[in-house]
Amino acid sequence: MFGKSGSPRRLGHTARLAVLATAIAMGGVAIATAAVPSSAAACNGYVGLTFDDGPTGSTTALLNVLRDNGARATMFNVGQNVQNNRSVAQAQVAAGMWVANHSWNHAHMTSMSQAQMQSDLSQTNSAIQSATGVRPQLFRPPYGETNSTLQSVASSLGLRQVIWDVDSQDWNGASVSAIVSAAGRLQNGQVILMHDGIQNTRDAIPQIMANLSSRNLCPGMISPSTGRAVAPDGGGNPGNPTTPPPGGGTCTATASYPNVWGDRYNTSVTVSGASNWTVVVGLTSPQRVTTTWNGTFSWDGGGTVMTVRSNGSGNTFGFTTMMNGNSAARPQIRSCAAG
Ligand code: ZN
Repeated sequence: MFGKSGSPRRLGHTARLAVLATAIAMGGVAIATAAVPSSAAACNGYVGLTFDDGPTGSTTALLNVLRDNGARATMFNVGQNVQNNRSVAQAQVAAGMWVANHSWNHAHMTSMSQAQMQSDLSQTNSAIQSATGVRPQLFRPPYGETNSTLQSVASSLGLRQVIWDVDSQDWNGASVSAIVSAAGRLQNGQVILMHDGIQNTRDAIPQIMANLSSRNLCPGMISPSTGRAVAPDGGGNPGNPTTPPPGGGTCTATASYPNVWGDRYNTSVTVSGASNWTVVVGLTSPQRVTTTWNGTFSWDGGGTVMTVRSNGSGNTFGFTTMMNGNSAARPQIRSCAAG
């Protein structure tokens, strides 16, 4: 029978491929070992992406880019802008962003009296809470200008002051590549200053995410207790930890690499905590996914962000990635959302 004679032939072919891969490895071609720990694809650290001065007329464009790239960020909003763009502030939270206080109208606050500082920050908190239902827990003073009075006023309102570790200089006309390069200096726990309403900033986001992904860094939330970037708590906002993120809940996706050959490898991802899920995976160019199984897959325009939805075939999906000369990079799980 055809089936009986065909099967052994295919097995033999597979076995020869495995021998060939081993021979390539022994020949000195740099390939990863077959048993790469699953942590290689997980987040080895977190950075805080922050966007100041919104919400504005271009915030929706910013949210679209962030969402397309599986990124979450902290929006330091100006109170007056929130009051004038309440639905956009709501859209920030709906897109999984964290909303924070950046003063009422971007004044130089260190020249204010204590009472003026108090009034400015509490008015901003109220506007944000009224529009989004989220009480801010983070505050960034305009221009990064602060003093001990301002810090103690902020603290009395439950606001942790957050400045930044890296200034993207996007406010100063930095090019896309300069913004990408600034983000390339981010280390675990650090925070970068960027702004709402700047085209170069939006254009830099796909490359920023690819760079972070290649270093196994993920965008996180900023801890209200330490001011450092940490893993998202799954609650959608540090000011309101019980708010479910988009999709109704989080899940955990863990990657492993059961097969690594000289030119390609398989990734197997197991999801726990939800039976209907959406997992966003970051890929590193020029690596390309060629084969997929057990999920519904879609890609962004650049082919470096893959969204996988459950399709009723269980909680493990997989895909084959061609290395295309980059043997070191591995896919990064960016998010797992239930529903
Ligand atoms: Zn600002």
